[in-house]
Amino acid sequence: MRVPAIAKKTFDELCSRPEFLVITQLVLEELSKISSPLLRAKFIHKTVDELNEEVFSHPLVKDLSPCGVGCSACCHTQVSVTAEEALLLTQKIVNGITIDPVLLMKQAATGDESDKDFKKLSYEDKKCVFLDEKGSCRVYDDRPSVCRTNSVLGDASQCVPTESPQRLRLVKTQQADMAIYASFLFSEDAGSMSVMLQKYLEEFERLKQEEV
Ligand code: SF4
Repeated sequence: MRVPAIAKKTFDELCSRPEFLVITQLVLEELSKISSPLLRAKFIHKTVDELNEEVFSHPLVKDLSPCGVGCSACCHTQVSVTAEEALLLTQKIVNGITIDPVLLMKQAATGDESDKDFKKLSYEDKKCVFLDEKGSCRVYDDRPSVCRTNSVLGDASQCVPTESPQRLRLVKTQQADMAIYASFLFSEDAGSMSVMLQKYLEEFERLKQEEV
């Protein structure tokens, strides 16, 4: 188990709320019943989407949120994933989704203890390896839980750090955040998407070599 900073923040901010224990225990129980890591990743994604449904369908959020296809500033940030999510994304790559290996290596080299070094990369080098030229996610249905909670209120230009740092307002997705916390607690490993992908892709290559 390795709980990333984003999940620790959820715990610090939300552990005193009455629903915290209920949601985290329920998610942990359900995850323990699923033996396949890929199905565990899909279960948590479905749970996060369901918990977010009410929040994101609120008329105020619909009116004030600029988020949509092609708007991808949040895909230029460090994303934490569980081992299950990393496996799901690795499977996508192995099955044919191409990524830029140099970009992945550059991002992974910043480590995942904190996003301090990741933030020093140029905006272009922060771009998620799954983002296409039109600003769409190429693994949308299987994107990590953390990506599923990203929604802002205000002007989309405020999301681009070079234009207006610190002014964006994230929509609060507290119940989904609690479920995500539980998924990190359950997972045997976690880290930034680039570090985890690199680790899993190397492991895949190693196993392939052994088969030859
Ligand atoms: S996985 Fe998709 S949604 Fe998440 S950061 Fe990458 S491109 Fe964006």
